[in-house]
Amino acid sequence: MQSLIHDLAIIGGGINGCGIARDAAGRGLSVLVAERDDLASGTSSASTKLIHGGLRYLEYYEFRLVREALHEREVLLRAAPHIIWPLRFILPHHRGLRPGWLIRIGLFLYDHLGGRRMLPGTRVLNLRKDPAGRFLRDDFRRAFEYSDCWVIDSRLVVLNARAAADHGAVLKTRCEVIAAKREAGLWELRLLDRESGEESTTRARALINAAGPWLEGVLKRIDNHGGGEHIRMVKGSHIIVRQLFDHDRAYIFQNADGRIIFAIPYEGSFTLIGTTDVDFQGDPATVSISRGEIDYLCQAASEYFLAPITADQVVSTFSGVRPLFDDGKSDAKAATRDYVLKLDGRAGEAPLLTLYGGKITTYRRLAETVLERLRPALPDMGPAWTAETPLPGGDFDPDNFPGEVAKLVQSCPALGQNLATRLVRSYGTLAGKMTAGLAAEALERPFGHELYPFEVDYLLENEWARSAEDILWRRSKLGLLFSPDQIAALASYIDRKKPPQRGEPLLPPEGAADAA
Ligand SMILES: Cc1cc2nc3c(=O)[nH]c(=O)nc-3n(C[C@H](O)[C@H](O)[C@H](O)COP(=O)(O)OP(=O)(O)OC[C@H]3O[C@@H](n4cnc5c(N)ncnc54)[C@H](O)[C@@H]3O)c2cc1C
Repeated sequence: MQSLIHDLAIIGGGINGCGIARDAAGRGLSVLVAERDDLASGTSSASTKLIHGGLRYLEYYEFRLVREALHEREVLLRAAPHIIWPLRFILPHHRGLRPGWLIRIGLFLYDHLGGRRMLPGTRVLNLRKDPAGRFLRDDFRRAFEYSDCWVIDSRLVVLNARAAADHGAVLKTRCEVIAAKREAGLWELRLLDRESGEESTTRARALINAAGPWLEGVLKRIDNHGGGEHIRMVKGSHIIVRQLFDHDRAYIFQNADGRIIFAIPYEGSFTLIGTTDVDFQGDPATVSISRGEIDYLCQAASEYFLAPITADQVVSTFSGVRPLFDDGKSDAKAATRDYVLKLDGRAGEAPLLTLYGGKITTYRRLAETVLERLRPALPDMGPAWTAETPLPGGDFDPDNFPGEVAKLVQSCPALGQNLATRLVRSYGTLAGKMTAGLAAEALERPFGHELYPFEVDYLLENEWARSAEDILWRRSKLGLLFSPDQIAALASYIDRKKPPQRGEPLLPPEGAADAA
């Protein structure tokens, strides 16, 4: 038995792999995504979670990237108002660092470069009067306040995966691509199912290497790959502390070393502080925060907050590796954040496209650019379509989030306000479908913190969750609250309930080659 021939095989189920899969499947291509671990288990769940233009990239003259990213903020906000929402940033003015006039010019560009319509523009704050000033040291009197957006990064990945699958894409998690070669004008991939240990083969007309920080390791597994370009791996870490301030705006602080860090309201009762920029070598799967990074982040935030932050306040941390294109810059923070696409393959050969760099913010545009580059090999694909189409559950007015929650509470009063809010934040309009006809007993025995079996079942069946970690750290952030006993109970429930991974449909070998 041989598998179907896919138009497109994608290595990596991060934001770029899943974003391309959604776009490609919606254009009528048959798509396979192979992800060696869980969706978003790489860099795409370790970001600062901002849909942003990147104010500081203006200093590096990255105007193309900033313009595209600023424009994407509102496109994505409209497409996924459940998991993306506007966030105001307070930038306290510090006389010793960048001068006020330079910041004003930067913010003027930021307000106007990307065609902003939904988000409010910049204003100046008097920190003596504004409540945000209460948490800062007395020497900060003035601040600038501007707009960007927040995103639940790992859910953005899963919603793209869901949309891709709804358009017919095959997504395989815990499935590693262990080898790839060109054979009779096609790509032939060897896949390893990491749960069962079974190996299989599949074929595709075009191959995308979206393995993020693992992309060079993947290139080594591809026969006759020319190579030449290199990745620059830059580690970034965050710390999470208990809530440091009681308003819903974020702070952006400039450090003496020229870097900036954010302090962002996080998951209701926490504050997220990050990030660092440190060159990284080794296996990205082993990345973790160092004591030096924890001290750096505590110290940098303590320069601004009235109450100093110390390492013993840190309740959790996470680190990720930026898979940047090595543009030869000596300073990690100056290396380009823009995406770079490298196409390999002579005319008539099955193409390989490798993705370097990029941002969560620009994933949708990256997907469009990738597919246009592959059009000569896949001429039957449809036109671009994702700019105006909501992601699953995102089909509601971004200004009416409270109305969506009220609707859910009305349809299922037993949920209560808190759970209904979390469900709408996670699933948008799909929360109504998930809870339709829910029996009262379904809300009697939570695993903890209002996580009930009905939601876990939904995640197992519809969102490729396979473990407690997938659910507690990527489909949600309930891991911040769960005790070890609660985690163990959830894990044993999952082991009993999880469905077998769905395989690919198989076809008989003869005459079936072009049936896909
Ligand atoms: C600290 C930090 C902060 C950031 N903050 C922001 C931000 O605020 N806003 C923003 O827009 N961007 C931000 N970024 C950038 C953004 O997170 C990344 O550009 C993006 O997540 C990269 O996605 P990806 O899909 O390319 O890679 P990944 O998410 O790493 O996905 C690659 C996937 O490939 C899989 N894989 C690897 N090898 C194989 C194989 N052989 N077979 C099958 N699968 C394989 C991996 O398991 C992984 O899941 C940040 C990055 C970092 C590190």
